[in-house]
Amino acid sequence: MKIILAAPRGFCAGVNMAIDSLDLTLQKFGAPVYVYHEIVHNQYVVNAFREKGAVFVDSIQEVPEGSVLLFSAHGVSPATRAEAAARKLTALDATCPLVTKVHLEAIKYAKADYTIILIGHEGHDEVIGTMGEAPHAILLVEEEEDVEKLKIDDETKLAYLTQTTLSVDDANRIIAKLKSRFPNIESPPKEDICYATQNRQEAVRLLSQDAEIVLVLGSQNSSNSQRLKELAAETGQVSYLIDGPQNLSPDSFRGDETVLITAGASAPESVVQATIDWLMERFDATVEIKQIREESVHFPLPKPLREFAKTANVKGI
Ligand code: SF4
Repeated sequence: MKIILAAPRGFCAGVNMAIDSLDLTLQKFGAPVYVYHEIVHNQYVVNAFREKGAVFVDSIQEVPEGSVLLFSAHGVSPATRAEAAARKLTALDATCPLVTKVHLEAIKYAKADYTIILIGHEGHDEVIGTMGEAPHAILLVEEEEDVEKLKIDDETKLAYLTQTTLSVDDANRIIAKLKSRFPNIESPPKEDICYATQNRQEAVRLLSQDAEIVLVLGSQNSSNSQRLKELAAETGQVSYLIDGPQNLSPDSFRGDETVLITAGASAPESVVQATIDWLMERFDATVEIKQIREESVHFPLPKPLREFAKTANVKGI
């Protein structure tokens, strides 16, 4: 068996920052630290932090008054922030700056009385947070067919934004349809699908052609990981989205295939290595790393943690 290990893969700058933020918040304030939604969409990361004293909640009402609360990488609406303030919580914010960018664009367009078409997945934490910035002004579009159903009063004041972790190809198809129906629709100067999503998709698009099986490390509720699996399937390869080798069966392999391994932006490198070890033990696999792009993005910690970080030991996951 030959393993092609895609690079870049795994943790992005936003996930690194969010994980370091939770680690530092636990050190600074002690357990329990409440986290609004999963800090990132990965079971391994969430379970490891649970053991360290993080408590993940889906409602601010679950957090006892006066507690410490961290907002996850996916961002939150102003209403959620206000709820946290009303409960006198010490709130820290690990929202990825690239998600904040989309929030700020939504605020800007809404202030100028635009109707905003948000391309994204209904119910995803990031979409809920972004729509909460201007609920009266934002319409959600999930697929091409939704574009036909849109009812727009003033087509001269229309803009689109996207969730950061979409399939680049799907988003482009929807954007083309929007532009064909609304030729004057505006968009931000820099696209919203983030660098990490684009790079991981580009790697799968290029490298899956040389493989027969594609393994994407990531959790089922990770949007960017799901898109990687779908992309591999579209190129005709057998593809699996797995949390780790515990989800694999030896019967799924002949033993002489070429297997491409990648990981979504919230999947830790330890699960990638465990999967490689699993394949090496059973199929005598060799590993070749194929780097299609360098990444050097880094995001600063939330302000209240920066000073503390200088003296603390960031352990991460
Ligand atoms: S996937 Fe992109 S938007 Fe999401 S946390 Fe990572 S860098 Fe930020």
